[in-house]
Amino acid sequence: MSLFTEAKKTIAGGVNSPVRAFAGVGGDPVFMKSAKGAWLETEDGRQLIDYVGSWGPMILGHAHPAVVDAVKQAADRSLSFGAPTVIETELARKICEYMPSIERVRMVSSGTEATMSAIRLARGYTSRDKIVKFEGCYHGHSDSLLIKAGSGTLTLGVPSSPGVPASLAEHTITLEYNDSAAVDKAFDELGEQIACVIVEPIAGNMNMVPPVEGFLDTLGTRCTDAGALLIFDEVMTGFRVARGGAQEIFGIKPDLTTVGKVVGGGLPAAAFGGRADVMSGIAPDGPVYQAGTLSGNPLAMAAGLATLKQIEDPAFFDSLTAQTRKLADGLAAESQSANVPLAVEACGGMFGFVFCSDGPVRRFDQVAAADIDRFRKFFHGMLEQGIYLAPSAFEAGFVSAAHGDDEISRTLDAARTVFKSI
Ligand SMILES: *Cc1c(COP(=O)(O)O)cnc(C)c1O
Repeated sequence: MSLFTEAKKTIAGGVNSPVRAFAGVGGDPVFMKSAKGAWLETEDGRQLIDYVGSWGPMILGHAHPAVVDAVKQAADRSLSFGAPTVIETELARKICEYMPSIERVRMVSSGTEATMSAIRLARGYTSRDKIVKFEGCYHGHSDSLLIKAGSGTLTLGVPSSPGVPASLAEHTITLEYNDSAAVDKAFDELGEQIACVIVEPIAGNMNMVPPVEGFLDTLGTRCTDAGALLIFDEVMTGFRVARGGAQEIFGIKPDLTTVGKVVGGGLPAAAFGGRADVMSGIAPDGPVYQAGTLSGNPLAMAAGLATLKQIEDPAFFDSLTAQTRKLADGLAAESQSANVPLAVEACGGMFGFVFCSDGPVRRFDQVAAADIDRFRKFFHGMLEQGIYLAPSAFEAGFVSAAHGDDEISRTLDAARTVFKSI
């Protein structure tokens, strides 16, 4: 019996997070056994080059010795105290150093918790209920954020999942990503009711969509003028597109930032932080409640700190960016010579590609209208060739520091073959 069939007997859907189930590409998911650097070993003994990187955290590649050693040493001291430890301060200091908009930080255990808590804080700080988010951005699965645009009116969002009360959805305004005019309209009409805008400064959950010129600045200006807070959700982009995240690249200082993925180095850690006066609103300093039994867990802190230390040198991102660029340019060239329309993006260690002929992709509807069937064929073709891509057309891809010239050229060789067959 297949491992997936066996898993489905006791695990809901056979997976512990839905995208792992291959529903977006068909077929059964691949079960992993171990990994080293850029390479995965599957339960059936295949070696695959990994472009998922655990959905972002593994920026150094798998089983980096500095990270593994740090975790082992931390484990020998204690798995968890539930009391303050010095390593929490050390990681907090690193986060604040790399992202200077963050003056105070609070550790949590997942990106979902980080965004949920940042929004509660923004609502508490402003004494307002409404939040603005963008179609195609993903901010974890808390109730207020599982909302899509309602038809017609600006004011009423609708739940995008059963189980989310409509009474909550009505406080979430969902706008088009990269549509500054829609942002202006929302603020003109409802500005004094808006607690915050939350945005992925480079969208990575609808494939990869960079912001258009002026979009993020509009968010900053309108938030400041209206007394609302700007939250950059850098759970994916933080320490991934540049050492200081997308905010470093675009030179924007959000009021609050959420980070996750890379900050835990592969263990469950995430954080939210920002302006000291805003952060003083959370318990125990302030009235906005937020807590966590395993928050700041010493193993997760050790993995995160060891990872952030490795990305300190500017040469790290120079080289990661160059490798990712090599991959992206190669994919663009190979698709072109096979006459397959493809729009490719890359930034730091993050990339995306969309099967469409109206690139560059800057809007959600372009991603939604892409050739999904072609993506499915490409995904399975690449998997057969030993290349493990995200099993969904709506995800970004990740390159690690362990992806050398050999891995990139093997990937492009595979792509050359597969583009010709789809
Ligand atoms: C992954 C992700 C989240 C959710 O993080 P989890 O750790 O999966 O809860 C939130 N926001 C963005 C931008 C993400 O990419």
